[in-house]
Amino acid sequence: MAILGSTGSIGTQALEVIAAHPSYFEVEVLTAGKNAELLISQARTYTPNVVVIGHEPLYDKVAQALADLPIKVYSGQEALSSVVQMETVDMVLTALVGYAGLLPTLKAIEAGKPIALANKETLVVAGELVTNLAKAKGVNLYPVDSEHSAIFQCLAGEFHNPIEKIILTASGGPFRGKDENFLKSVTKEQALKHPNWDMGAKITIDSATLMNKGLEVIEAKWLFNLQQEQIEVIVHPQSIIHSIVQFTDGSMKAQLGLPDMKLPIQYALGYPNRLPSKFPRFNFLNYPSLTFEAPDTERFKNLGLAFEAMKKGGNMPCVLNAANEVVVDAFLKDKISFLEMPDMIETLLAKIPLVASPTYEQLVETDTETRKLTTDLIK
Ligand code: NDP
Repeated sequence: MAILGSTGSIGTQALEVIAAHPSYFEVEVLTAGKNAELLISQARTYTPNVVVIGHEPLYDKVAQALADLPIKVYSGQEALSSVVQMETVDMVLTALVGYAGLLPTLKAIEAGKPIALANKETLVVAGELVTNLAKAKGVNLYPVDSEHSAIFQCLAGEFHNPIEKIILTASGGPFRGKDENFLKSVTKEQALKHPNWDMGAKITIDSATLMNKGLEVIEAKWLFNLQQEQIEVIVHPQSIIHSIVQFTDGSMKAQLGLPDMKLPIQYALGYPNRLPSKFPRFNFLNYPSLTFEAPDTERFKNLGLAFEAMKKGGNMPCVLNAANEVVVDAFLKDKISFLEMPDMIETLLAKIPLVASPTYEQLVETDTETRKLTTDLIK
């Protein structure tokens, strides 16, 4: 396994899954962004062949700390793109956050490596390029996101049957039911407290604004080859039903479980096998009421913006993603308010010209331009 983003929330949970199945998995590559200490300690525990520290000034620190072990140490973004192509790597888990995941994912697919895909931004930015390349190379993309894993699990044995629609469930985040007055003044500390999931900072803010569900809608379109009309979102605050598929006979299949990312991670890494686990089991009697409601797209504009970007297609989802990454970062640095985030994304979607069938280079240009204009807007 090559684990890109091993120091993050998904990366560390993936290592727990791997540690529980030592005869099944072997860690070949670990990569981090800036968390050198954790990368060093993971390298000592899992003794991979190679580690990469994304932030180049930290190279010496990591190399010195691992000098007594036969582990190759590299640094920088280019190294991320080359280690995924190593012959000894059988599968790549993309658990980096954001746009930084795109190029290494493309490089891994180019080299024919199956992908366990956590980095949803890759499919949001370049869904068409990524899925076309995967098809051409005969590479499977195994979803790690719990909703997409649920759909994938519901499709087992059904791949020849057409999907009528899918229903992605959303917890609604920490501000479900709150009014505009409340939302105006929420702090990052409040937004970082997710009711059901313990995740990295960016996705936690995305969950609070409902952008996470918007990104997931676009991710689902590409993973399961769906039209916009076939994707619905329903708020299910208990996060027990992870998503639902409806087939053309009207029958629905859902996947259930306690909210624990280790389950979908393990399913993606072990597919097609269900490996045993000691994860806590769900008990219906502890959840006598599972509830559902429509998402509030008036208060939480991001979900509507994501549907709009998906409908326009081309480079618009790339604009949505780049603007979102910049505003989330600014919100986390207390530079803008909670409600300014969707307003700015909306402005950028209207400002950047549509490129209907963008090449990789045009997506890079769109990303750079959107980041620059969003940053100007924040100043
Ligand atoms: P985290 O912020 O917890 O971790 C991100 C990882 O990416 C860290 O290892 C970080 O390194 C690394 N990283 C960040 N930027 C760079 C960079 N420029 N170059 C190299 N490495 C980098 O994120 P999560 O684990 O929460 O999320 C990862 C992905 O999985 C996201 O796309 C998210 O949407 C998706 N996802 C996450 C879920 C969750 O439960 N957390 C659920 C479903 C999907 P370091 O910390 O060392 O700087």
